Amino acid sequence: LPASSAPADPRALEVLHTVFGYPAFRGDQAEIVSTVVGGGDALVLMPTGGGKSLCYQVPSLVRNGVGVVVSPLIALMQDQVDALSALGVKAGFLNSTQSWEQRREVEAAFVDGTLDLLYLAPERLRVPETLALLDRGDVALFAIDEAHCVSQWGHDFRPDYLGLSILHERWPSVPRVALTATATETTHREIATRLQLEDARHFVASFDRPNIQYRIAPKDNPRAQLLDLLRTEHPGDAGIVYCLSRNSVEQTAEHLVAQGIPALPYHAGLPAHVRAANQSRFLREDGIVMVATIAFGMGIDKPDVRFVAHLDLPKSVEGYYQETGRAGRDGQPSTAWLAYGLQDVVQQRRMIDQSEGDASHKRALSAHLDAMLALCETVECRRVQLLSYFGEDSNPCGNCDTCLAPPETWDGTVAAQKLLSTVVRLERDRGQRYGAGHLVDILLGKETPRVTQLGHTSLSTFGIGSDLSDGEWRGVVRQLLARGLLGVDGEGYGTLQLTEGSAEVLSGAREVRLRKEAPKRGRTRSASKG
Ligand code: ADP
Ligand code: ZN
Repeated sequence: LPASSAPADPRALEVLHTVFGYPAFRGDQAEIVSTVVGGGDALVLMPTGGGKSLCYQVPSLVRNGVGVVVSPLIALMQDQVDALSALGVKAGFLNSTQSWEQRREVEAAFVDGTLDLLYLAPERLRVPETLALLDRGDVALFAIDEAHCVSQWGHDFRPDYLGLSILHERWPSVPRVALTATATETTHREIATRLQLEDARHFVASFDRPNIQYRIAPKDNPRAQLLDLLRTEHPGDAGIVYCLSRNSVEQTAEHLVAQGIPALPYHAGLPAHVRAANQSRFLREDGIVMVATIAFGMGIDKPDVRFVAHLDLPKSVEGYYQETGRAGRDGQPSTAWLAYGLQDVVQQRRMIDQSEGDASHKRALSAHLDAMLALCETVECRRVQLLSYFGEDSNPCGNCDTCLAPPETWDGTVAAQKLLSTVVRLERDRGQRYGAGHLVDILLGKETPRVTQLGHTSLSTFGIGSDLSDGEWRGVVRQLLARGLLGVDGEGYGTLQLTEGSAEVLSGAREVRLRKEAPKRGRTRSASKG
């Protein structure tokens, strides 16, 4: 990051050097710190690893009084306080995990001003005693960490965050700094409105993480692919493997352990003490692979996470960006790898259809998924696409899979027409349930028991697709689904159906350029096998 042009506040620099031991501020840190030290409000959008903590820690030490940090990360408060104590900073926290005595002690330290920083869980601010407590002490500033939790359409919504506007109403003269690593325009605006930070200075850092290599691979045999990645590129490295379900977390972790890789599971269904123990081993030991649901990771500050692998498709680009952003905080080369396949699209489209919530909520979920799918199917630089999602223009990066090995494209119009006409014919067979596999069998002219039983051998499209392989056809289905040119019936069992866009393809009004599928690993009939 480029150094800031504004001279840093001398007292802030002094704290940076003597307390934290760093020679200089990075990026916008100096200006954010001066703004808050001077009593102004700030809204900070900075990627994970960008250095948000110093933006409130330094002003808390420079200003009179105690810096009050609102954070949803209860499980990490002890770690944060310990890390600060090691630097000689007096920090404490208040959350629901403490005993009455522990709380009393922290409260007393807050009131007599012996604390520098006080971490608070947001739900504490619903308790009138907490508000009264804050009145009795001297508050240097309010920091609202993970500020995107105020966004109702976001993936980390916390209802308690909606109550945080009380900070401004009750203590109008105390400066506030809200921080997040989520950067879409929508979230940005929502934070500003809901936290009444329209008049604050907004600091938006670049979200590029140049040391992370983004790769999205067709899902073939995900466990074997993962193992291959770990063994060939990341032996002995610490990393995170994200799975969608608790079940697959446990099975994947067991599988890795059986293969001699030190993996641990983490998901919300595990007992709290197991989660805490696994998290702490991941943070303290070298080379642990954490297999987790997205319940894991927010606020985890482990600098040397060398890879983040996704075995299932994230629900949004924001989620993907946050999760992959946990790799390489130390700036060293790191990998973000995602395996993505046809079933991911079918499953997520169905989950949205079946989800609770009104039409506008479903539309929001669909829009999130579509952006994620566009990133998966792009033939252009992944980073350019990722950054443009966050409103940033950039040039091809040279450090993502599509830059390193540009995918070929082909004219898939005729293939798409063959496939969609088969769907048209099957739609006449109301009440039938069939998925992509059955459709591909028909196109390939395979006389499977099901195809024969349903009389689908007599369809006019039976066998008209023998020019493509099974894998290529599945790629066509996936890409049409990803672009909304083919749909999934949410009521049924993932039966494929036409969409508005399908008609344009069928009538020839729309050309379909498709990404060529990479040859499957280990299944090529090459001579090198042996
Ligand atoms: P974020 O909260 O934005 O994800 P952190 O505040 O945890 O990031 O900072 C990420 C890492 O960068 C930490 O290890 C931190 O100590 C380090 N860091 C932050 N600011 C500086 C700086 N000015 N100089 C050197 N290291 C820094
Ligand atoms: Zn690139």
